[in-house]
Amino acid sequence: MNIVLLGAPGSGKGTQAEQLCATFGLTHVSSGDLFRDHLGRGTELGELARGYMSRGDLVPDEVTIGMIRERLAQPDVDAGVLFDGFPRTVAQAEALAELLAESGGRVDGAVLLQVADETIVDRLASRGREDDTAETVLARLDTFRAQTVPVIEHYRAQGRFTEVDGEGAIDEIAARAAEAVRALQ
Ligand code: AMP
Repeated sequence: MNIVLLGAPGSGKGTQAEQLCATFGLTHVSSGDLFRDHLGRGTELGELARGYMSRGDLVPDEVTIGMIRERLAQPDVDAGVLFDGFPRTVAQAEALAELLAESGGRVDGAVLLQVADETIVDRLASRGREDDTAETVLARLDTFRAQTVPVIEHYRAQGRFTEVDGEGAIDEIAARAAEAVRALQ
């Protein structure tokens, strides 16, 4: 089972992704984590991504898709994958469908964590990540609205799409998210 977890920056995707992976035995593939790993190792890809990340812009699709293609060549994805932070553009969503189809797979469902704008700003302000400066946070929200909201519409139109209330305690959200994934099985 391959699931795409969608949500604005600060919607709690990362936290919920960990819990869902533990519950359903899925492999967590986070494009942001993969980029940060490249950054930390000082790879060429990391150097390329650095500027985009620090501005809150998206890394170009071909670079991002190439990185995910490489990740999907690892054997641990056979258990099923929970995608977190990818796809963030419609082109990435189309590429993901093709990549999964190469091994007979598909996106079995998309789950959107729905949170209010005020919650996002509060959560990002308290997270303290290097790319969480006020300016970058606003840029990432703009990027989300312009490029990733169409991805939500893309999956909504395909069906197998569920919206989960992302407000409240982590455990409550986790229970709702798990129920949504169970319904997609
Ligand atoms: P995240 O940890 O998901 O918030 O990602 C951190 C940063 O990595 C983003 O602000 C982008 O610069 C970059 N990034 C992560 N995922 C993607 C993606 N799917 N497409 C393009 N850039 C991405």
